[in-house]
This record gives sequence, C-alpha cells and structure tokens, in this order.
Amino acid sequence: MKEYEFWFVVGSQFLYGPEVLDTVEKRAREMAKELSASLPYPLVYKVTAKTNEEITNVMKAANYDDKCAGVITWCHTFSPSKMWINGLELLQKPYCHLATQYNMEIPNDEIDMDFMNLNQAAHGDREHGFIAARLRKPRKVIAGYWKEKSVQERLGAWMRTAVGAAFSRKLRVMRFGDNMREVAVTEGDKVEVQIKLGWQVNTWPVGKLVETMNEVTEKEIDDLMDIYRSSYDFATDDIETVRYQAREEIAMKKMMDAEGCSAFSNTFQDLYGMKQLPGLASQHLMAQGYGYGGEGDWKVSAMTAIMKRMGKDGNGASAFMEDYTYNLVPGAKYSLGAHMLEVCPSVAADKPRIEVHPLGIGDREDPARLVFEGKEGDAIVVSLIDMGGRLRLICQDIHCVKPILPMPNLPVARVMWQAMPDLETGIECWITAGGAHHTVLSYDVSAEQMKDWAAIMGIEFVHITKDTTVESLEKELFLNDIAWKLR
Ligand code: MN
Repeated sequence: MKEYEFWFVVGSQFLYGPEVLDTVEKRAREMAKELSASLPYPLVYKVTAKTNEEITNVMKAANYDDKCAGVITWCHTFSPSKMWINGLELLQKPYCHLATQYNMEIPNDEIDMDFMNLNQAAHGDREHGFIAARLRKPRKVIAGYWKEKSVQERLGAWMRTAVGAAFSRKLRVMRFGDNMREVAVTEGDKVEVQIKLGWQVNTWPVGKLVETMNEVTEKEIDDLMDIYRSSYDFATDDIETVRYQAREEIAMKKMMDAEGCSAFSNTFQDLYGMKQLPGLASQHLMAQGYGYGGEGDWKVSAMTAIMKRMGKDGNGASAFMEDYTYNLVPGAKYSLGAHMLEVCPSVAADKPRIEVHPLGIGDREDPARLVFEGKEGDAIVVSLIDMGGRLRLICQDIHCVKPILPMPNLPVARVMWQAMPDLETGIECWITAGGAHHTVLSYDVSAEQMKDWAAIMGIEFVHITKDTTVESLEKELFLNDIAWKLR
C-alpha cells in the first residue's frame, strides 16, 4: 500500500515578498502532514513554486519517480499560470487540483489587505484552473475545506484511483488458452490496450500449467487446505476434489508470480490434461487480489485486478460477475448474477461454503467451488469493451439486495440486484451501449472513481445512473462517436 506517495505543489509568485512565501510554505507543510494522517497515501510537500523553471523541474521529477502516483496542486496565493504551461505539458502523472483554503472562516476583525493578499486561493485557483482547461489537461478538481471529512474522502478516493492507473500501467495478464470460440465481446486489440492502459497481455500453454501442477507437493497442498479450512466452511466430504483445486491454485499462483502477473484468464474449452475447471482455485486467487476472467476474457480479468487495487485497503470488495437471469415479476424486478464457478468471495454476505457439484459444460470431473450470497448495498457494475479504434468503459449504478429466493439447488455463488434507473430501462441502456455479459461488480469503488480512472487513461466513459434515459444515452453515444473520431 505504501509503495506510492503523492506530491503537493503549491503555486505562488515573488510579488508578495519573502515573509508571505515563508508563511505559504509553512502552512503547506502543515497541511501535507495533517492530510497524510487521514489519506490512504502520504501527501509529500514538494515546492512553493514561483517560476517556470521550478514548475517544469518538479513535473519532470514526478514523471520519473516511480513512487510518485500523482501531483496535487493548490494556489494559496496568486500564481500566474503562464509559468505552469511548460511543466503541465510535460506532466504524465495523474493530476488533481485541490481548490481549498488554509483558513475556514473569514476573520471579521483581522481581515485587511495583507490578509487578502496572503489568503487568496479563490483568486489564484481560478487562474490555475484556466490554464489546465486551456491545455485540455485531464485533471480532477476537488473543492472544499481541507480539514472537512468529505473533502478528505474524495481526495483519498482520487488517490486510490491514481494508484489504479499506476497499477494498470504495469499490469501483466496471464492467459491460459484463448477466448471461448466465437464469442465477440471478450475479444479486443491487445496492442491498443497496451498503448492506452499499459497492460501486457500474453499467453502461456495449459501444458505448462499441468506440468507445474504435477510439481506441487502434498505439503504445499496441506498448507493451503489449512487456509481453506480457516476461511471457509466445508460442505463436502470429497476432500480429494478440494485438494485438486488447491493444487491448481498453487500452480497458477507460482506461474503468475514468476512472470509478475496480477491477473489471469482461462477457458473451459482448453483444459487439456486438467481434471477440473478451476473453481475454488480461481475464487481464492481473486480473494488475494488477483484478477480473473472466464472464457478467456482478459479484459474483465484486468479490470477486476485494477478495481480490487482501487478499493478499500488495496484489495476491496470487487468481483468478476456475469449477468445470468432475470426476475421479471412486477414489484420485484431483479437481475441475478453468478458465474459457472468463479465469483470472488470478497462480496460474500456470510462465510462461503466449499461444495462439490457436477458442471454441465467442459467435460471434466465435478469441481469444488465456493457458494455464497452477495451482500446487500449500493454497488456498480463495470464493463470495458473494444469499439474498434477505441475503448469504452461502461458503468452502471446498481443496488444489491439479499436474494429474494433461497435457490437451494443453485450450486454457485450468486448476487441479486436492482439496476438503475429500473430493470427494463437499465437493460435497454446497457445493451444500447454494448456492455458485456461479463462485468466487475464492486461495492467499494465508486462510479466517480471509474470516471476519473477513464479520464486519466484517456478512454471513453459511459455512466448509467438513476437519471439516465435511453434517449439521452443514445444521443450521448452518437456524439461520443463523433468526438472520439476527432481525437
Ligand atoms: Mn462467462
């Protein structure tokens, strides 16, 4: 978590004399220190910038410092913005403009022109905002008093988003086998994705995985079985089947760790030499923060890993999900999401159970899997699709409920939700936008974070909310098509 930090760059100028500049620096240091205590990553004061050279130098240093995940700027006083042009043009790290003020109140007796010259963020931040707008520089603007909790929470969420961007740019995805035959939405341009998002998506043979599985020792399996026992309830006596999943998990983890991969995909159509489709194995890897996508869906796998990283404590409640079936009863209209095995237990309402059941497809032995219900609460579902020439990130607001039926014969983990704005309009919007059946469902990454992430990465963002209509969405998509062609 603490491998990253953010840089605090405060704008000013020589006009006010050294005393004012000293005060600005003292206060900026105090703010960075105090904010660091409540933010997920340290905020490091860097400079009170007064010249083009100082700004250019700090931005160049930010680009080349792997620890620096983003730059946060603020103008305590007035900072003429032409001196920012060269530096901001060079800046490649995520950029946030914190429009705040050192003091909360205007002091009735104390206020005079000296006070005004020292405390003129309202003035300086507008000049600063203009130049970023003029440069068309992607940035986050957060306004409010720096000690206010809501401001700190938004700044913290943006920091986690910026770390998601840094993580994305280094992300390596391990593919076992190709995509499911004939499926369109799981395809994509891996070269374009690496250019835009940084992902290195490559394939490794299933035969190599089987070889690695054969090298796993009984002791290694015993140790992982202890972890399974402490994390999950055993609702099966078929211990050998569970041990086989442990063997698969250990082998996949070894191969991923050896290659520096944080996400993987596989397909039930290419399990040559394997007795079971990995179920519990993939689920427990996801619980540890690895991304996963079924049927060779490397895009959703990578997004799962990134959104987990952007969530609470660097491994939040985000899961690979699939829209499966609807309850269309008036007054109780819900989507039921699941997968044939692989839903991450980070979204479970209660302790998951390990169960063994037959799998209708894939022509293999009955696999062990975790079965549970998803928890109640507001969430989002997110899908990244390749539109040919550009990537579109679609995000829909949802509300998850306790499943309205026990469904005792359904042998997989399940989540039930209400799509926004309502089930039918939500479906129409999702289908109109081209969203996939595979998504990342997240309880702790917000739509605002996904919007900011898309802006940092430079890709299209479409948000389906409680206020979205099909007509407004169609218009937005039509205009987006034109806008993205011009870029
Ligand atoms: Mn699927």
